[in-house]
Amino acid sequence: MFSVHLDMKINPQSKKITGVFKNMNHSILQKQNPIVILGGGMAGLIAGTYIQQQGEKSIIIEKSSKTGGSMKMSGGSIWCFKNHSDYKKINPHGNTMLGEKLIDNFLPSIEWLISLGAPIKNVTAALYRETDRHCYQMTPNSEYFTQFITEKFLELGGEIIFNSNITQIKCNSNKLIEEIEIKTNSQIKSINCSSLILATGGFHNNPTLKNEHFGKWSDKLIVRGNLYSTGDGLKLATSLGAKKSKSMDSFYGHLMPAPPAEVPRNRFSEFTMYHSEHCLLLNEDGNRFTDESICDESNAEATIQQNNAISYMIFDDKIYKKYGIKKSISGEIINDPFKKSIEINALTTKENSIQKLVETLSYWGVKKEASLKNILGYNDYLINKNTSSISIPRAKNFNPIGTPPYYAIALTTGITLTLGGLETNENAQVLNDKNIPIGNLYSIGGDSGGIYNHSYGGGLCLGLVFGKIAAGNAIKYHH
Ligand SMILES: Cc1cc2nc3c(=O)[nH]c(=O)nc-3n(C[C@H](O)[C@H](O)[C@H](O)COP(=O)(O)OP(=O)(O)OC[C@H]3O[C@@H](n4cnc5c(N)ncnc54)[C@H](O)[C@@H]3O)c2cc1C
Repeated sequence: MFSVHLDMKINPQSKKITGVFKNMNHSILQKQNPIVILGGGMAGLIAGTYIQQQGEKSIIIEKSSKTGGSMKMSGGSIWCFKNHSDYKKINPHGNTMLGEKLIDNFLPSIEWLISLGAPIKNVTAALYRETDRHCYQMTPNSEYFTQFITEKFLELGGEIIFNSNITQIKCNSNKLIEEIEIKTNSQIKSINCSSLILATGGFHNNPTLKNEHFGKWSDKLIVRGNLYSTGDGLKLATSLGAKKSKSMDSFYGHLMPAPPAEVPRNRFSEFTMYHSEHCLLLNEDGNRFTDESICDESNAEATIQQNNAISYMIFDDKIYKKYGIKKSISGEIINDPFKKSIEINALTTKENSIQKLVETLSYWGVKKEASLKNILGYNDYLINKNTSSISIPRAKNFNPIGTPPYYAIALTTGITLTLGGLETNENAQVLNDKNIPIGNLYSIGGDSGGIYNHSYGGGLCLGLVFGKIAAGNAIKYHH
């Protein structure tokens, strides 16, 4: 015969009486409780769908009135480096263990997604910083994919509670989260849970955290990502003793037209200056401040450290025609971000001499002598290989500012997602400052950090791979 007895305890924090059945397996005890997922974007929906598919129960708590988060706004390319060495080459300071886990689990996770009937197709993507990658495109777009994965989750018996936020967490005497309290509109509700998975998308829309990690100009950042990701997962976990990852000061973003331009929120990619790596960037002092040729993402990170978070992108007609205007294979213009920026009142100019260009820059508040010296010095370096003419060397894209007309545009940084977050292990469990997992607390997608450190490798792939890993482990260990 199987005998159990109830050991009553009072939790000092929650003042709640908890019973622990001695001689009884924890998994039997928890069986009826769902796995709760905070956030219904890429990571949360993947985790939830996997849990339901395995015959277990999950509930997604979503802060907004819709699923999708930044995933729904995204370009929908689920991409990932093909091997460990490419990941390491682009992310030398990233968390190697997690980076390799990402690479190893990417294709199996894609296969699983395809087995669900997900609308994605394998495409050949352009090299990312001269590096090959796997790429699966959400088809026809990320909005449709969001609808598909949301419906799949619901069809498998998952539950979503919208317009809600977590207000309290209650742990049992074993420090396992056993109940959460949520507020939906003005109603408070308690939900028993066997594990909690944080998937709130990072902190790109939290002014205090951005100021702490990205510096004093962070309030100028244009938020490209969804507006609901305000670091709730990070705050909640750190209140339970979680450790922050490396790369808290790192984010993925792009250069966009600075105010007075107003970039429409649903048209960010049309105004993104992906080609800044072929141009010259100056700050208000008229100085170069980074090797522009690394990539636009790195230029975006460097710009937020400049006065007023502004950089002035300078290019000539040759650069404009070759890199600034995106064309189809048949030569048809697909996008011209410079031209479009004029339409939204960006500070732009087109001049026939460098002298005149510098005068306009000076009218905008850029130091005249320094900007002239730096543009001419840059040309001298690229044409005559005179290294003494510049303070920051350039690794590639040796395009002098030599063919009139010459162009300039004032840019600032748009933040897409934060790259620092919670430190997690290979099971996606949240770690404390002694690197010990905090019981049944998991973190995925933008809430976890450190895989990329002042570099990048795809955002959707993180939600896919670690969403599935967290779900599998939450079932295995805590359900
Ligand atoms: C314009 C744009 C283009 C992009 N293009 C690509 C691309 O082509 N390829 C790529 O790999 N990546 C791309 N990305 C990045 C990608 O979209 C993100 O990395 C990815 O969506 C992050 O997944 P996530 O689940 O962590 O966050 P999200 O998908 O943003 O989901 C987070 C969810 O959590 C919810 N939430 C927030 N706080 C709470 C709370 N307290 N309680 C409950 N719910 C909460 C939010 O409302 C949201 O629904 C793009 C992003 C943008 C903005």
